[in-house]
Amino acid sequence: MSMERSGVRMYAFTKENIMELRKLWDFPDDLFFPRLCPVCRLPVEAGGTYICPGCREQLTQIKPPYCLRCGKQLTAEKSYCTDCLRRYARLSPMHPGERAQGDFERNVAVFDYRSVCDMLMRLKYKNDRTLAAFFADEAAKKYGWMIQKRMQAECIVPVPIHFERRLKRGYNQTELIGRELSARLNIPMRTDLLCRRQKTIAQKKLNPTERLANLREVFCPGKAKGGIPDRLLLLDDVYTTGSTALACSRVLKEMGVGQVYVLTMAIGNGS
Ligand SMILES: [Zn+2]
Ligand SMILES: [Zn+2]
Repeated sequence: MSMERSGVRMYAFTKENIMELRKLWDFPDDLFFPRLCPVCRLPVEAGGTYICPGCREQLTQIKPPYCLRCGKQLTAEKSYCTDCLRRYARLSPMHPGERAQGDFERNVAVFDYRSVCDMLMRLKYKNDRTLAAFFADEAAKKYGWMIQKRMQAECIVPVPIHFERRLKRGYNQTELIGRELSARLNIPMRTDLLCRRQKTIAQKKLNPTERLANLREVFCPGKAKGGIPDRLLLLDDVYTTGSTALACSRVLKEMGVGQVYVLTMAIGNGS
């Protein structure tokens, strides 16, 4: 941070330093004020659950059977959703391993999108950090064992947001969840593997092919100071068409990562 030059101490503010400074403002929400349930805004017990039990019951968890590839809730007992079977023509219960080149292994999701979209929006734009802890808690309870034992993820990699956006907002909401999840699962979080080169145009109006083209140049390899892991867990807030996960996975696998598993907090409906 500081440089000695002819006896004068000069401070150079780099991207990393600014991030460090911002962390100084991180303190527990319930240190000075009682913690409020992020859904109904009523006080919750200090040191207890993150949202009140009544509100938690209203949320729709993804339960088996879910698609073994994208993680969408299935209404009938089968292995893959119709979307995945259509998109990956060769994907069938007989050939579950066949995927597009560089594609991720599978995604698992925690909640149905509609029941948590307000909470995710609040986490994204209103810096409600209790929510990050809540989502990490739910994800760890639901998939902790799978992530540690089956996926054997060596690290957690949050999908990056563009540097300018992060500076403006002060944080990357996925990284907040990642930090909380890392502490719960005892798996390090790494933000040095993936970079976001440019801001993307809004993905919502694009179809899956356009989304992927839009994302092709967006992600790039990071400095990877800690070497390349063989297996990792990519973390994102929402899974829609899977194009973000695919774009990230391609970059990571080109860097030498063997297996990319994906965990998202929410996902839409399957069939
Ligand atoms: Zn509540
Ligand atoms: Zn699927």
